[in-house]
Amino acid sequence: MNNKHGFEDVLTKASLYLDEAALEVLRKAYLFAEKAHEGQRRQSKKPFITHPIAVSLILCELEQELDTIVAGLLHDTVEDTDVTNSQITDVFGEKISLLVEGVTKLNKLKFHSQQQAQAENYRRMFLAMAEDYRVIIIKLADRLHNMKTLQFLAPEKQKRIAKETLEIYGPLAHRLGIYNIKWQLEDLAFRYSYPEKYSEIKELVEQTREEREVFIDDIILRIHDVLEKAGITSSIKGRPKHLYSIFQKLDKKNTSINQLYDLLGVRVVVNKLEDCYAALGIIHATFKPISERFKDYIAISKPNGYQSLHTTVLTQDGKSVEVQIRTKEMNQIAEFGFAAHWQYKQSDKKKQLEAKLNWLNTILEHQDEKLAPNDYLQTLKMDLFVNEVFVFTPKGDLKVLSRGSTALDFAYSIHTEVGHSCKNAIVNGKIVQLGFELNNGDRVEIMTSKQSRPTVDWLRLVNSRHSRYKIKQYLNSQNKEDLLESGKNRLKRAFVSEGLILESCLEEINTKEFFDRFNVSKYDDLYVYISQGDLSPREVLRYVIKKLKKEAEPNLKISEKSKKSKKISGGIYVMGEKNVKFTLAKCCMPIPGDDILGIVVIGKGVSIHRQDCLNIASIKDSSPERLLDVQWDIARSKPLNYTCTLRIEGYDREGLLQDLLSIIYESKINLREVKTKVNADNTRMFASITIDITDIKQFYDIKRNLNAIEDVYSVSRVSLGLEK
Ligand code: MN
Repeated sequence: MNNKHGFEDVLTKASLYLDEAALEVLRKAYLFAEKAHEGQRRQSKKPFITHPIAVSLILCELEQELDTIVAGLLHDTVEDTDVTNSQITDVFGEKISLLVEGVTKLNKLKFHSQQQAQAENYRRMFLAMAEDYRVIIIKLADRLHNMKTLQFLAPEKQKRIAKETLEIYGPLAHRLGIYNIKWQLEDLAFRYSYPEKYSEIKELVEQTREEREVFIDDIILRIHDVLEKAGITSSIKGRPKHLYSIFQKLDKKNTSINQLYDLLGVRVVVNKLEDCYAALGIIHATFKPISERFKDYIAISKPNGYQSLHTTVLTQDGKSVEVQIRTKEMNQIAEFGFAAHWQYKQSDKKKQLEAKLNWLNTILEHQDEKLAPNDYLQTLKMDLFVNEVFVFTPKGDLKVLSRGSTALDFAYSIHTEVGHSCKNAIVNGKIVQLGFELNNGDRVEIMTSKQSRPTVDWLRLVNSRHSRYKIKQYLNSQNKEDLLESGKNRLKRAFVSEGLILESCLEEINTKEFFDRFNVSKYDDLYVYISQGDLSPREVLRYVIKKLKKEAEPNLKISEKSKKSKKISGGIYVMGEKNVKFTLAKCCMPIPGDDILGIVVIGKGVSIHRQDCLNIASIKDSSPERLLDVQWDIARSKPLNYTCTLRIEGYDREGLLQDLLSIIYESKINLREVKTKVNADNTRMFASITIDITDIKQFYDIKRNLNAIEDVYSVSRVSLGLEK
């Protein structure tokens, strides 16, 4: 294979640390990507495949493991070509597919707001979404190559991408300790973001370069000499000059370029940890140290894992030089971050490295305890932010909530009053329940209403301590009468949903025992506790059922598994509450718009009837305490379907049934069942048609249309006899 699009360079680099079998996988990935991107071109007019190859070359320079490089070659295939994740899984396996998927996911992430204040949050979200450390490495390599080829884009695009690089990607690389990429990204972005400053600083650095190099070369020789005499092997280099860091320092300290210590710096790399401190002592004995500028990042490493000794010394001619002293490994980690850990994997230095990685263990959680430490390192997960979830306001501002937060938590995080009056939440354009658990990247909008007020049920819809506290505070501030009332209602509802009537039950059990059990002296106190969320109605219910079973006559039936009947919830308020389960009575089949009442069916639950149903009339006479106040939830955003049976009478002519059914069909209504009967002399047809409708208005529309058919005498809703 000739060096097509530079792929041979990738192989050459990779062959330094990967075996032949691995190189074969790389060739396969290259051919796969080349075929996928065939015909596509970059802005530079070069074939698109040059981009993934350049990305994988950067990954090779970071000495990344095989999977990461393969994913680098494939990173744009799912997003930009017909290739799917499952194809990648088929050809390259699940691990690589997951990496590609991770990069694709990050590419979809749009940075809504460019405010500096939010940049840190975006970086955290970025990390949280990446899930796997290696996804970020690939993404950084991707961005680096895009920055290197930025000249081919339009100026305003250049500016935007450069700004994003400075705000998000540079600091991200810094955070992960990949300084090698950080400097490159920042210097490239600096050039496009502040072109004048860039050329100014570049020129200043150039002007003084020769003088500086002579000076630095001299320092290097002297340090090398004294260390060699002490038996310490070292490799010493002048520190590279990063224009953006010079710019930042000039900006911050308001100093002139000649005063910057960092312009004059050397890096001493030694073999062993002990040599670092030995070398420090020797250097301090040779040059005069500026004591306040000494830092020991070996004893206390930076959070991103960076380790080094930093000291600034004065030369005879009064110039200050910053000296960094570190081991080879520390230098690797400083340049390439923890991405560099991989190459130590097979060496016996592994143990040492793992000890050094201990800091990481304290912030990263073991995903899988069974993983050997080695595998653990390899599949480093970005768990730093598992406890947070990142969501957007409708304006695109980012909010950081604790993981498990719900839409209602979001409302409370905006303002207590927004929380208290929260009515609805819209997540990514869809209406959701207040208890909806938010995911990374969700866009959340809160609808409020003056009528909406916290109830004790809200305590179950929130996850954060803050919201819970605010809700409790509100509940406690309510006046006693309201608390009493709502607590009693809650308890009643819990009872009716099991087909029990609170008052009758309380009469049957031992009052003193009951009060003792719940530590109250009267029922009112119990109701207040319930209102304030200190006592659950289910707990009281459970206690009462237990007592009743023990004491009551054997024929009292209390359902333990009342799941048999098809109970539904939603669509109807039972005693002012939406979430009470009920059944719709088969005898009268109520539909929204009908006047309705609920009946407590002893031992079963709540059954909803039309007010004109014969069953209601009979209950009214025999046991009125079993009747409940219920209402249709007419404010529902999405109507539910209700079953309705129509009874139609007409002259039994040919085609009548067809005419009836075509009306149903044209109304786009779901048809459940059709039954017909003809009377003895073949003159009358009785049809019973069962359909799904949403409300009474729809019933009247259908009824009118059916009535208009020739030879139809009457259309009515069925009503069966009394329920037994
Ligand atoms: Mn790309």
